[in-house]
Amino acid sequence: MKVLKFGGTSVGSAQRMQHVANLICDGSQKIVVLSAMSGTTSTLVEISDYLYKKNQGSANEVVNTLEKKYLAVINELYKTTEYKQKATEAIKQIFSYLRSFSKSPVFSLFDEKEILAQGEMMSTNMMHFYLCEQGIKSTLLPALEFMRTDKNNEPDAAFIKEHIAKQLSQYTDTEIFVTQGFICRNAYGEVDNLQRGGSDYSASLIGAAILADEIQIWTDIDGMHNNDPRFVENTKPVAKLHFEEAAELAYFGAKILHPTCILPAKLENIPVRLLNTMDPKAAGTLISTENTKGKIEAVAAKDNITAIKIKSGRMLLAHGFMRKVFEIFESYQTPIDMITTSEVGVSVSIDNTKNLDPIVDELKKFGTVSVDKNMTIICVVGDLPSSNIGFQAKVVSALENIPIRMISYGGSDHNISFLIDAQDKIKALKALSNKLFNN
Ligand code: ASP
Ligand code: MG
Repeated sequence: MKVLKFGGTSVGSAQRMQHVANLICDGSQKIVVLSAMSGTTSTLVEISDYLYKKNQGSANEVVNTLEKKYLAVINELYKTTEYKQKATEAIKQIFSYLRSFSKSPVFSLFDEKEILAQGEMMSTNMMHFYLCEQGIKSTLLPALEFMRTDKNNEPDAAFIKEHIAKQLSQYTDTEIFVTQGFICRNAYGEVDNLQRGGSDYSASLIGAAILADEIQIWTDIDGMHNNDPRFVENTKPVAKLHFEEAAELAYFGAKILHPTCILPAKLENIPVRLLNTMDPKAAGTLISTENTKGKIEAVAAKDNITAIKIKSGRMLLAHGFMRKVFEIFESYQTPIDMITTSEVGVSVSIDNTKNLDPIVDELKKFGTVSVDKNMTIICVVGDLPSSNIGFQAKVVSALENIPIRMISYGGSDHNISFLIDAQDKIKALKALSNKLFNN
């Protein structure tokens, strides 16, 4: 069985939903994971923000506007009065639930999580009813019954596997299982979510849990491109990526895929295919254990990076210095992206600067500390083992006119990263495309 995930834009209007329905109905059984209609989750965040501020009036105004939008979509989506009524009833129930929060004197994080979950509830209900109206055997699988995180807020793979199997075994005559991306319950059974953009993660976790033949992530671009199409012209989709190459690209800036979603698929060796709803025949990108030997595949950039350099005479010939430095970052739960070292200093880059000040204060015990904000990591991904003589030099020489603050290579055979000033980003991306892909 395959797992297909459609993002918010792919279900963003009545027309788009009909289009998705046409795409998925080919007679084979599958699980379809949906995001909320585009814009909805952000609107639900806005409603929650008003409720936190006890501004019930504004919250209700936003709820009313959103409800009108959904009722209009329903009117357009269904042909029969029967299904118009069924969908209207389901959606109205959800909106009256949303309104109930403005009557309560307190508003908590738990309430917000409940509110955020309603976007995926609505899109899946609407799709399920549409499939039923078309005479398709559709079943709505409640994600809250099987999608779970543990006490560390990590997906509970064993729970998910057991409970999705239980759900699926109840239905012997279903073509399409429709379920919610993004939402889950936490270890205490409370409604929670897998963070913004988490529907990709849902699809990957479900695919891993049922040992799917393939996980398909459908978006509105024809696969992962070899450079950022927002800044560089003539980018092209990459046909094939190794799990590790895709993970680096997703983490270091390629927006098409949520970075967390590679690992569950990789652990069970389930291929992930990135496809385009607007051009379903396009080949897209296949992510698996295979890669193209000796090929540089793609470039991505990650913004808002801060570099921290610690220079210390005490590091010279000393052991234990790195551990002390890393312990400081660990104690503030701040992940490090890049590291470079010399005998008298170490530079690291971070993107979470919430605890930057106390981190810097503690690092000062070890030497001179300098901080550079507004940096960008440029990540070049491909088959780049050290035996591929010349590839590394080619990448570095593409950036010959750009000041480089850090270079990292050798952490894996799939990646070279550069830290540069954010203002040089577009120039660097273009130079890399020219040298690596456009000849
Ligand atoms: N609807 C959620 C969001 O907007 C999850 C997702 O789309 O992946 O973040
Ligand atoms: Mg997404």
